[in-house]
Parts: sequence; structure tokens; C-alpha cells
Amino acid sequence: MNKIFSLGKLALYLFKSKFSMSQDCLFCKLVSGQILAKEIYRDENILAFHDINPQAPVHFLVIPTKHIDSLNHVLPSDSECLGKIQEIIPQLARKLNIFENGYRVVQNNGANGGQTVFHIHYHVLGGRGLKWPPG
Ligand code: AMP
Ligand code: ZN
Repeated sequence: MNKIFSLGKLALYLFKSKFSMSQDCLFCKLVSGQILAKEIYRDENILAFHDINPQAPVHFLVIPTKHIDSLNHVLPSDSECLGKIQEIIPQLARKLNIFENGYRVVQNNGANGGQTVFHIHYHVLGGRGLKWPPG
């Protein structure tokens, strides 16, 4: 019985990875652990990690563990996870001591938006005064 249960779990895991992971996506590799990141938070649906090339004293990225190319590819079924990301961001901002003074959340979308990694992500920047408008 236990064996059948484990096989079922394995099949479910393989099914979920096949349909939620994109083979050549850098951030999917961070999610699967193929590439290591300086992780700040992880649950089944969300991963947050420090940006490798920080643009502010605090700069981290928050992503859904499911592969979504960009905002243009969001489905109604993604709303709960993306909403949860907005709930998690202030909690992480507090953890990294940028909650009180403020911070910026940026979501680059497509070529003109400056998106370089096509797995939807939210930049969180803080620890200094940020200029507006952005370049
Ligand atoms: P964007 O230009 O909005 O697509 O942002 C992609 C971000 O991913 C950039 O700020 C990069 O510095 C960051 N980045 C790329 N590779 C890694 C990595 N291995 N770990 C953490 N951040 C990364
Ligand atoms: Zn991906």
C-alpha cells in the first residue's frame, strides 16, 4: 500500500514538473536546485532569493515556482499565487529591514520593459532612496 502511495506521489511530482518547468529557464533551475541561489524564502508555490547583481543595498527577486514567461502569460488560475507574492513581499521587506523606510517593487515585462529572464519575477529594491522616473 505504501509502495503504491509513493509511486503515486512520484508520478504526481513528475507530472507537475513536466507541466510547470521550462527546460532551459534559469529561474526554473533555481527552483529545482540545479543552480543555487541565496534563498530568502521558499514554499511550494513561491521562491525569493537575492539578486546576483544587486542594484541597491537590498535587492531580491520573488518568483512563482511554476514557470510563467511574463505578465502577458498569466492565467486566471495563477491569481492566487501572484496575490500571495504581494502578501509575502512586505514580510520579506521586514525581515531584511527595509519595511519601515520603504522599498520599490519592479516587474519588467518584455523587451522594452527590460526583461532579460523570461520567468515572471518581482524585483524588490531598498536600503537607499530610489530615483523616479526610472531610466
Ligand atoms: P530582468 O532583467 O527584470 O529580467 O531581471 C533578471 C534579474 O535576474 C537581474 O536583475 C539579474 O541580476 C538576476 N539574475 C540573473 N541570474 C541570477 C542568478 N543566478 N541568481 C540571482 N539573480 C539572478
Ligand atoms: Zn522558468
